[in-house]
Amino acid sequence: MSINYICHECGKKHDPKSLVFRCECGGLLDLEKFNFQFSNKNILREEWSLFRYIKALPFDDNFSSWKDISMGEGLSPIISLEQKNPNLLVKVDYLMPTLSFKDRGAVVLVSKAKELGVKKVIQDSSGNAGTSIAAYANRAGIKCDIYVPENTSSKKVKQISSHGAKVHLIKGTREDTAKAALTAVEHGEGFYASHVYNPFFYQGTKTYAYEIYEQLNGKIPDTLVIPVGNGTLLLGSYYGFKELLELHLIPKIPRIIAVQSEGCAPIYKAFNADETTVKKVINTGTLADGIAITEPKRGKQILKAIRDTHGEIIIAPENKILKTRKYLAEKGFYVEPTTAATFAGFLDYYKKYGHRINGKVILPLCGAGLKAD
Ligand SMILES: *Cc1c(COP(=O)(O)O)cnc(C)c1O
Ligand SMILES: [Zn+2]
Repeated sequence: MSINYICHECGKKHDPKSLVFRCECGGLLDLEKFNFQFSNKNILREEWSLFRYIKALPFDDNFSSWKDISMGEGLSPIISLEQKNPNLLVKVDYLMPTLSFKDRGAVVLVSKAKELGVKKVIQDSSGNAGTSIAAYANRAGIKCDIYVPENTSSKKVKQISSHGAKVHLIKGTREDTAKAALTAVEHGEGFYASHVYNPFFYQGTKTYAYEIYEQLNGKIPDTLVIPVGNGTLLLGSYYGFKELLELHLIPKIPRIIAVQSEGCAPIYKAFNADETTVKKVINTGTLADGIAITEPKRGKQILKAIRDTHGEIIIAPENKILKTRKYLAEKGFYVEPTTAATFAGFLDYYKKYGHRINGKVILPLCGAGLKAD
């Protein structure tokens, strides 16, 4: 499908075939709006992966390479944490081939890279996105270089290299890692398969919404609680529900409650100061490393999405992360600290403002506990 990138700032269109990953004006690239038909009857019911929603994804009907690349990602269960509270639901998104929700975005982005004839991808990550891109790239027969901060969980580093990617351990902050990857991309070393910059990633994460729509039989929840660092799940869910709304399949978009960590909360700060852009903060330390992004590049879009759903943004109390991790483990779910943080933030909120939630609430369990050191 020849679909263009479109600059979020100046509206200029760019061809994804080029190595461009951001506009000359510095703006981030979104995907141009494309028309598609989607309803219950367009779901490919024999396809047991998120490609059952391929009619809503930016692929040509005759593109079939995704069949070699998909590992059955998506279709994660939605279940109540405990029977006595049937409205509190978790979506177990760590039940994915590489054990985090990033597989949703990675499988679509890598399939697109394959369609574009890309030979090598470059990506930087604090761990899970890198693992996911590495696994899918190798399946697609695309070379892959992953840049990670030096202090990344050794298990994640091992996982990335096991998938056949070349791992670059970068000294300094998460931002230094991003810079190192960008430099390689600017030197023409490969296609920037970034979950932050590349809009195709968000086409994958939007299936979170399509799945909820299908699994709950169109009776969408009142509220989605979503961790937010770079906003890939938050924006993807927002795009997905917005499309379902525009297709007249749902009456409204669920309210989004975003969760940031106490030690690194740039979006929280901007939201509460009524700003429309996000300023860089200093990370004062947190166990929730998966959401510790000091300068989220899509901050402006994230703020707009939360406000558009009449949502809120809350803080995960640092001193309750480990306790909540144990609580979830005792319910049977062994998650990584970032996921426990999301839950801890929600539990605090629920005690005080539970009455604001009018119906079902869904929290994603984004990352598996075995991935953390
Ligand atoms: C990536 C990730 C997040 C945060 O997602 P963003 O796209 O950065 O907002 C949260 N939890 C886990 C386990 C992750 O891997
Ligand atoms: Zn531009």
